[in-house]
Amino acid sequence: MDPPQAGDSCVSVLSRGVLLERMYMPYLMVGYAVALLLMLLGCGVSVISVPGLRGVRLLSWSFACALVGALLLAARPFAPTWLTILLANQALFVAMLLIYCTVADILAAPMRFLPWGIALCVAALAGYAYFTYARTDLAARDLIDSTTGCMLCAAAAWLLFRHADPAADDSVAAPTLRILTRCLAWFEACMAAVYLLRGVLTLLFPPSSFLHLDLIQAAFSWVNLLRSLAIGCGLLWLALCSHRRDLHTLASTDGLTGLLNRRAFEEILDRELRRAGRAGSSLTLLLLDLDSFKQVNDSFGHHAGDEVIRRVSAALRRSLRPMDALARYGGEEFVMLLRDLPLVQAHALAERLRVEIASLAALPGNVSITASFGIDASRPEDSPEEILRRCDEALYRSKSRGRNRVPAWT
Ligand code: GH3
Ligand code: MG
Ligand code: MG
Repeated sequence: MDPPQAGDSCVSVLSRGVLLERMYMPYLMVGYAVALLLMLLGCGVSVISVPGLRGVRLLSWSFACALVGALLLAARPFAPTWLTILLANQALFVAMLLIYCTVADILAAPMRFLPWGIALCVAALAGYAYFTYARTDLAARDLIDSTTGCMLCAAAAWLLFRHADPAADDSVAAPTLRILTRCLAWFEACMAAVYLLRGVLTLLFPPSSFLHLDLIQAAFSWVNLLRSLAIGCGLLWLALCSHRRDLHTLASTDGLTGLLNRRAFEEILDRELRRAGRAGSSLTLLLLDLDSFKQVNDSFGHHAGDEVIRRVSAALRRSLRPMDALARYGGEEFVMLLRDLPLVQAHALAERLRVEIASLAALPGNVSITASFGIDASRPEDSPEEILRRCDEALYRSKSRGRNRVPAWT
């Protein structure tokens, strides 16, 4: 679209302005509405085909609001102002706020900005109403638009940056999730900057009354439409990736204690043994079995037994380093993989754990619980089965020597 030239007569500029106002907006908005309809269709297919997908319902609402906004903007030459200016822009603001809510829902983060976002949308509506009915001021309306857009994009960017690097996530989807979250965060941050730029340009070159959609505002409308479609696709992708991560977490977590389960632990052990083999180093494995646990169940019931297992798992988790792997290996058995810890120090750690478990207070029925240990370090060419077998033998020796003990360090 050409900006007005110096030689243009007032009438031709006016007619071109009217043409821009009359034709550009409806065509742009109808195209945008069609794209939104397709995105809504994509969301619907995702919701049906992947049950439990977080954020996609909110994303669909965002697209629906944007669709209403686009259709109302397209009707600007034919419909009343309150519909095509006030309601249309409000629908677009709500669509942006719902993008923030979608991000929070996908990342399972609290929506702390939501009350502020609602207040921002209400204030924007009041501002639009004032600068439409009390005092017609296009520049002021564009400034409201820029400020609201900037803040809503910045809120989504902030949330994405905060969750770009989740600790202790080594699921298969984690690397893609990290990259995707970071890209979306930068994208939203750039969009916040674009809105800011638009505000500054609006201040420098205020739109004239008869040429509302000048080049600056037309370009920003276009960028804004692209932004909402791009962020929509990105968020759908993010939702699918985090769903994959959730499924992986579910498949590798023990339901009672929240620790790794046996299958996940054996995967890690296999990986770490290969790594240690390549590096020429070794790792230490520690197996732990609660003593005479059947009696706890028989005396106090399974519910109490479950609580004891949970308390022991929490005590173990507290005592290990973040780099160690801890799993519930079976009913009342736990296994620990200690990275870069010499066998002598692993024995000292096991002794500490033994004392800690024996002194756990306020267990159901005030029961006292003890544990027996089996420890060994990996050898070159060890397989997971081999090292686990040696630890199991050591554990069996601890049991046969009277329980509540750590094998002697030799
Ligand atoms: P030992 O000192 O030889 O290990 O004796 P034990 O009684 O602990 O050993 P045993 O293997 O005979 O019994 C383990 C018991 O652990 C049997 C089972 O009822 C109980 N158990 C296993 N899983 C769970 C669980 O998830 N919850 C509860 N409450 N009990 C469990
Ligand atoms: Mg056992
Ligand atoms: Mg036992």
